[in-house]
Amino acid sequence: MTHPPPETPPPEIPPPEAAQPGHPVPDLAGPPDLPGLADLVGLDPDLEGLDVEGLADRDEPSHAELAGLDYEPDDDADDGAGLWLAAAVSGLGAGFSDGGVLDDLRPGAALAGFSQHALDDGLAVLPDDALVGLLRASRRLSAWQSGVELAAVAELDHRRLRQSSRPGWSRVSEHIAAELAAALVLTGRTADSLLGLARDLDRLPAVRNALLAGLIDRARAAIFAEELAALTAPAANTAAAAFLPHAPGLTTGQLRAALRALVHRLDPAAVRRRMTRARGDTRVEAWQETSGNLALAGRELDPADAIAADRRITAIARALQTAGASGTLDQLRAAVFSALLAGRDPGTLRPEDPGSTAHRQDQPAADPGHPDAAGPGAPARPAGPGTPAGPAGLAALGGSVHLTLPASTWLGLSDLPGETAGLGPIDAWTSRDLANRLAAARSIAGWCITLTRPDGTAAAHACARTGPPPPGSPAARRAWLTRQHFTWLDPGRCSHGSQTRGYRPPNLAGHLIRARNRTCTFPGCRRPAAACDLDHVIPYDQGGRTCPCNLAPLCRRHHQAKQAPGWALAQPQPGTLTWTAPHGRSYTVTPSTYLC
Ligand SMILES: [Zn+2]
Ligand SMILES: [Zn+2]
Ligand SMILES: [Zn+2]
Repeated sequence: MTHPPPETPPPEIPPPEAAQPGHPVPDLAGPPDLPGLADLVGLDPDLEGLDVEGLADRDEPSHAELAGLDYEPDDDADDGAGLWLAAAVSGLGAGFSDGGVLDDLRPGAALAGFSQHALDDGLAVLPDDALVGLLRASRRLSAWQSGVELAAVAELDHRRLRQSSRPGWSRVSEHIAAELAAALVLTGRTADSLLGLARDLDRLPAVRNALLAGLIDRARAAIFAEELAALTAPAANTAAAAFLPHAPGLTTGQLRAALRALVHRLDPAAVRRRMTRARGDTRVEAWQETSGNLALAGRELDPADAIAADRRITAIARALQTAGASGTLDQLRAAVFSALLAGRDPGTLRPEDPGSTAHRQDQPAADPGHPDAAGPGAPARPAGPGTPAGPAGLAALGGSVHLTLPASTWLGLSDLPGETAGLGPIDAWTSRDLANRLAAARSIAGWCITLTRPDGTAAAHACARTGPPPPGSPAARRAWLTRQHFTWLDPGRCSHGSQTRGYRPPNLAGHLIRARNRTCTFPGCRRPAAACDLDHVIPYDQGGRTCPCNLAPLCRRHHQAKQAPGWALAQPQPGTLTWTAPHGRSYTVTPSTYLC
């Protein structure tokens, strides 16, 4: 246990955040604006009688006046700033509500002042919708303040770098992190990472401006910096500019995967170089968790090896679950991981009485015995109940991987990246390596193929019994592909061609739906569709169809959210889901897009 805990212990679990579809993208280059006065008045019916023209002629208050907000509304009704404020403040609740003037106001002294005012007035008076607006404003303000902090660090860095050219001062720039550590009471490692992020954003001005505009938060800015680090400055800036407008609607996990895929496409060789360099730091880390338990993790591993190992752990854990072992899939995976590494046979984790299945009421949705769990990416079914999976049989399970690979990469005609469910994009070399390992493995029950439209959404799916011929024969592989029978998803309106009468959709329809929506369809949830139930959006017993237009993958947690009071879910188009939360705002999730 010689290693200190890493600053960000693996694995990264993206926080559940609501997406913000349709969030307007401000002009990143311009200075923050105060809202138009007409808009301000138009949003509050109480202010309709005000002389808008006259109001517009008055001077806007200074930022200092706004930040102070210590005036009495009746004191100085003739004062321009006071009247402007009175208009704004009397509509505070409406201002923070969905579409209100403060709901998208750029962060700065004015928004900070209004937030403080809301706090002083007591949050209890705010309606739910306005309270959520205040939450959103707080996020933008903290992003803005991070942008200011990082700009200040960059300025100090510039000064020291300039000073280091003076005679006798050459080493002053080597200890900037130490200055930061002393001034801000930071560990050396935290100061290093602060300086690193400040320098990265200095290289990516559009990202820092987006942070200052409250469009993205510090965590997202850091992801831009990390993921674009492999690219040259011009390429990184071009990629950032193209991607920033999409960033506000993506959780950190989604953003990282999307940027990584972009970099894979822009410069696969650079990605490869970075991976090879980092492989030199491969290691096993152990550290103490906050609880006092221990963590053990392999870092910078070979991707194909690590994916194969991870899936083998899952396969053994599922087999144990099927055999009646108690515990969630996570708990069983951890037990298998420890047993394998400590040299114990995982077969010893099987219960004394394999017939007992009472505990399985509480099992997660990704139960291999559940007919819905067999999506593309659901592992080949391990030993079922009654199958004598002896200890040796368990340890020999190989697991399987859901690999999505562009046909051109498979055929060796391009180096476009593939991806594996739940683990993000993987480069073409690793993809082909994994595909070959899968072809050689005995645990594969079938091969699923998803074709995509030019916009990257799923178009068709086929399930094949046998895999493609080995690499080296593109013609034979192409012939194999053309022999498959594809079922097509209706774009737009559903013709209900795949509708069935029963409650459970047939396997192929299930695959099609899980290819259309690769994850749980709650905003921001990244739980792979294979680990989700297919939910009837309009319940089956209320006349809802068993058809792709009424089915969508939902993880257990979000299935429960859907059924909770105050929540509503609709599927206006196949694969497009609109959630309405108890606070009244709606959030939309669209069909997944693939890289190929
Ligand atoms: Zn399939
Ligand atoms: Zn339909
Ligand atoms: Zn979910």
